[in-house]
Amino acid sequence: MLPIAAAMDGHEAVIDAAARLAEVNERIARTAKLARRAPADVALIAISKTKPVEEIRPLIATGHRLFGENRVQEAEAKWPALRAETPDIVLHLVGSLQSNKAEAAVALFDAIHSVDRSSLVKALAQAMDKAGKRPDCFIQVNIGEEDQKGGCAIADLPALLADARAAHLPVVGLMCVPPADLEPAPWFALLAKLARDHDLNGLSMGMSGDLEAGVMLGATHVRVGTALFGARG
Ligand SMILES: *Cc1c(COP(=O)(O)O)cnc(C)c1O
Repeated sequence: MLPIAAAMDGHEAVIDAAARLAEVNERIARTAKLARRAPADVALIAISKTKPVEEIRPLIATGHRLFGENRVQEAEAKWPALRAETPDIVLHLVGSLQSNKAEAAVALFDAIHSVDRSSLVKALAQAMDKAGKRPDCFIQVNIGEEDQKGGCAIADLPALLADARAAHLPVVGLMCVPPADLEPAPWFALLAKLARDHDLNGLSMGMSGDLEAGVMLGATHVRVGTALFGARG
């Protein structure tokens, strides 16, 4: 079956993308107002993982510029062409990163949200020195202490942060994905406390289903896929 965006003519696809974007921006604005925050202090990262370039272009056509992917290889296949068309695209990596992909990640992304271990800090520092380019870094915290989840243990955060700072990684904040099927707010509050304890201003937290909780609790970046692009196959 054809993807919906490909089945529509380009104009309809842009109208559809603009409507979804307006709805998400309205959720952010409404919540920011309740939290006495400026909506502009919350960056909306459109997570386009698994979506083909034809489904991403309509959102770019609305004027949106900040996007996120979770795999280096997939991003390498999609974004050079899109960036050639729209040079001011900003691209963030939100998925787990293998050390052997550090160079590719540094070359491609403007920020990396998944720094979660010392070996990766080392690989990223080397890649940044070599490339002469230093993408912003978020330390990912395994906030719910889940076995299968990426992110550093809360107990390991101080040492990892010290490593990252000593290696001159530009650490701007913390990132988490809270446990599924539990109320997200307590985990976001805990991440915000950890960020305060370590003098970090950036908080990457909140997705399609829980961005309000993220914004209420101080998110500076929300990562939204499904609400902008529809369900993933
Ligand atoms: C896929 C993904 C998102 C977006 O999730 P949605 O529920 O589709 O909004 C956010 N963050 C990370 C790390 C992801 O992998």
